[in-house]
Amino acid sequence: MKPEPVHRLFRGLMNFDQEFRPSLKPLMKQLAHGQDPELLLFACSDSRVVPHLITSAEPGDVFVVRSVGNLIAPADTSGHSIGDVSEASAIEYALEVLGIRDIAVCGHSNCGAMSALIKGRQALTQTAPNLVRWLAHGEASKARAATMKFAEGLNEVDQLGQANVLQQLEHVASFEPVRKRLRQGEVRLHGLWFDIEHAMLHLYEAEAGRFVALTEAEIDRLLQS
Ligand SMILES: [Zn+2]
Repeated sequence: MKPEPVHRLFRGLMNFDQEFRPSLKPLMKQLAHGQDPELLLFACSDSRVVPHLITSAEPGDVFVVRSVGNLIAPADTSGHSIGDVSEASAIEYALEVLGIRDIAVCGHSNCGAMSALIKGRQALTQTAPNLVRWLAHGEASKARAATMKFAEGLNEVDQLGQANVLQQLEHVASFEPVRKRLRQGEVRLHGLWFDIEHAMLHLYEAEAGRFVALTEAEIDRLLQS
C-alpha cells in the first residue's frame, strides 16, 4: 500500500538524518558561515526537475531560483522588474554580492506552463488568475519558437520549452547588472533543457543555433572547442 504523503515526508526526514546527514556534516560545517556558488540557475518548479541532481552539484555550488515555467519577468526601461521582483532580486544578489559569473536557465520536456501557453492561458482566468498573469512572461517565446531549429520529432510543447529558455535568458539580460557584465565579458549565459523521458540534459549551442544532447562525446567536443 502506498504510504500517506505525511508519512512519506517524515520517513524522508528520518532517512536524511540517518543516511545523509553524517556524510554531509563536514561540508556543511565549512559552509556554515558563507557561500561562494559558481552558478545562478533558474529552473522550473516541476517536481521532476531536480537542479542539484542534473548539475551534479553539492550544497554551496548553485544559487537556485525556481518558478513556474522557469519564467523571469524582464526589466522595464527604468531597470525594474515588470512583474515579480523575486527573480530580479536574485540576479542582483548573485552578481553584486556573490560575484557569480555564470547564469543558466533550465527548461524541460512536458512542461505544464508551456502546454498552458499553447492552449491559451486565458482559459485559466477563473481558476488561476495569478497563473494567467505570470504566464504572460512566456508569451514572447511562441514567436521565438517559430524562428528556431529543433531536433526532428520534437513536439510542439517541447519546442516551445526550448524557445522559452532562450527567451528567458533574454529577460535575464535585460537587467543592468547582467547587461553591464555582458558588455565587459564578465558573465556567461547558458541555456539548458532537460529531457525527462531520457533523463538527458541538453545545452544550447549558439553556433549551431540549437540544443544538443550532453552525451559524453558531446561534452568532450565542447570542452575541446
Ligand atoms: Zn515546467
